[in-house]
Amino acid sequence: MNPWERIQGELRKALSPQNYSTWIEPARYGHADGGVLFVSVPNRTFRDFIAQNYGPVVEQSLRAAAPEMDRIEFVDASATTRKAAASRGAAAKYDGKSDQPSFDFDSPLALLNPRYSFDQFIVGPSNQFAHAAAVAVANSPSKAYNPLFLWGGVGMGKTHLLQAIAHGIASKRRLRLCYVNCNQFVHEMINSIKYDKMISFHDKYRNVDALLVDDIQFVSNKERTQEEFFHTFNALYESQKQIVFTSDRHPRDIPHLEDRLRSRMEWGLAVDIQPPDLETKVAILLRKADAQGVPLAEDVAMMMASKIHGNVRELEGALTRLLAWSSLTGGEINLGTAQQLLKGTLQSQERRTTIEAIQQVVADEFRLKPTDLKAKDNSRKIVYPRQVAMYLCRELVGASLPEIGRAFGGKHHTTVLHSVDKIQEGRKSEKELNRLILKLTDSLR
Ligand code: ADP
Ligand code: MG
Repeated sequence: MNPWERIQGELRKALSPQNYSTWIEPARYGHADGGVLFVSVPNRTFRDFIAQNYGPVVEQSLRAAAPEMDRIEFVDASATTRKAAASRGAAAKYDGKSDQPSFDFDSPLALLNPRYSFDQFIVGPSNQFAHAAAVAVANSPSKAYNPLFLWGGVGMGKTHLLQAIAHGIASKRRLRLCYVNCNQFVHEMINSIKYDKMISFHDKYRNVDALLVDDIQFVSNKERTQEEFFHTFNALYESQKQIVFTSDRHPRDIPHLEDRLRSRMEWGLAVDIQPPDLETKVAILLRKADAQGVPLAEDVAMMMASKIHGNVRELEGALTRLLAWSSLTGGEINLGTAQQLLKGTLQSQERRTTIEAIQQVVADEFRLKPTDLKAKDNSRKIVYPRQVAMYLCRELVGASLPEIGRAFGGKHHTTVLHSVDKIQEGRKSEKELNRLILKLTDSLR
C-alpha cells in the first residue's frame, strides 16, 4: 500500500461515508519526493475544498498512517495537463508553485480550520454556556477560567469551539499557542522517546502561552502520557498559562485516569455542550450554506433539521452532499431535489432503532422479559444482558447516559457509562461477545 492509501484508510474512519466518497476517494497517489507526498485531485474545486475543510483531519491521518512523510501537496490534475500543454508553447510561463497551496504543518495556525471561528458558531440554549466560557478565555487567556474543560457528545462543536479559542487568541496577541489533538501528543511523545528527543518535546509543550488539547479522553489507560501531561500541566499552570481541554465526557467519567490529573482538570471550569434543538440546527445549516456561497431555502433546512436526528456532523454531511451536487451539476436545491438526494440518509434515519426495540431483542436473546432488564435485580444473569442492551442503546440510538439510565428503571448515569465501557472493551478481546453484538445490531436494522 502506498502512503496515500494508508492515509485514505484513516480518513475513511474519520469522515462520513458520503464525504469520504465525494472528496477523498477520487484523489490519487502521485509520487513521493523528499518527505512530500504528491496527491492528484480531479480539479481545483477538490483541491480547495479539501484544503479548506479537511486540513486538520488530513494532517492527523498523515501523522498516524504515514509518519515518514512531512506534508501532502494536492495537485490539481487538470492544471498539470494545462501546464504540460503550455510548456510546449514557447512563450508560456507557468509557476507551478504559486497555484498549489500546501499545508505547512509546522505553523500552529496551519492545523486550524479557518471556518472554525466564533463568527461561524451558532449559539443556542444547548451551547450558550460553553460558548460564553470559550469567548471569555479567548479574550483574556489565563485570567478567565484555567483550565477550561469543554465536554459533550460527538459532533457537538467541541473542536470548533477549541479552534475558535485558538483563532481568537492568535488574532489578538502575539502569544505562543499550541493546539494539539491528544492522539497526536501521544504519537509525538512516542517518537521523541524512540529518537531520544524528549528535551525538545518538553520545550515545545512547556514553553507556550496557551495549550489547547482536543479529545483529552484518549489519555485513558496511557500511563506515560498521563505523567507527561501532568508535568506539562503543572509547568504551564504555575507560570499562569492558559490550558483548555475538550473531551467526550466529564473528567470524573474518564476511565483509567490518574486522580492527580483528574483533579487538575477540574480545577477550573468544566462546561458541557448539549445536542442542539431544532432552531439551532436550522440556523447552523443556513449559516454553513451561506459560508459556502450557496443559498439554502429555509424549508429545506427545516426538513433536514427535523429528519436527521444525529449530531451536527451528520447534518453537515447531508448539506455537503447537496452542495456538491449543486456545484457539480448546477442544479437548484429545493425541497424535491433535497429529498431525492438525501433519500439514503433519511431512510436510514427512519430505520434508526429505539431503546424499546433494543430491550426487546436483547431480552429475547437471553430468554428474559424486557421488564427484567429494568428491574433492581443485580444477579449476573440480568446484569450482563442489561450491559449489552445499554451498550447498544448508546451505539445505535445515540441516547445520552441519563436517558439510558431512566429507560432501564432509573439507573445512575455512571452505571450506564461503566456498562458501555465494559462491553466496548470486552468486544476487543472476546470474539463471542463481538459476534453477539454484531448479530443483535443486524437484527435491529
Ligand atoms: P466535536 O469536536 O464535538 O465532535 P466538531 O467541533 O467537530 O464536534 O463539530 C462537528 C461539525 O459541526 C463541525 O463542522 C462544526 O463546525 C459543526 N458545528 C457543531 N456545532 C456547531 C454550532 N453551534 N454552530 C456551527 N457549527 C457547528
Ligand atoms: Mg472533536
